[in-house]
Amino acid sequence: MSYHLVFYGNETLRKIAGEVTCITGETIELIRSMFTVMRKERGIGLAGPQVDVSQRLLVVDLESYNGPSLALINPVIMKCSEETSSYEEGCLSVPGIMSDIIRPASVHVKAITPEEKEIEIEAEGLLARVLQHEIDHLNGKLFIDYMEDYRRRELTGELKKIKKLNRTR
Ligand code: ZN
Repeated sequence: MSYHLVFYGNETLRKIAGEVTCITGETIELIRSMFTVMRKERGIGLAGPQVDVSQRLLVVDLESYNGPSLALINPVIMKCSEETSSYEEGCLSVPGIMSDIIRPASVHVKAITPEEKEIEIEAEGLLARVLQHEIDHLNGKLFIDYMEDYRRRELTGELKKIKKLNRTR
């Protein structure tokens, strides 16, 4: 099975992804492919729905930012800080669009690793940002949903073009 990136307009991106109930060889293969897709596109995070797989898993690669490389299964945000921060986000599934988005500055995340271990992560800074962005994907949410309506309206033309990228496959 080969996996490829899907873009804004693809239905899987808007679905609530299902829990991973069993970690199989296929799951491990999928995670490996997700790392490949993310690195090829020079992303720092990628969620299952972005490769058209409606499962709750995500990968993160912050090695070039002196951060961790992670694969998380069924991640859950247990706690968010009240303190927020603003950061310019982009998304491999919404290429070419960037926007400052306000989110909690730190989060406490619980998840399962591919080795079937439960882990808890106290994330701040860029890691907290990426985890929140990717977990949003698992809930059918995109960063552009946080934009002011007028800003999103300005992007209508660009978003239409991005939708078409789904058809060139
Ligand atoms: Zn994204």
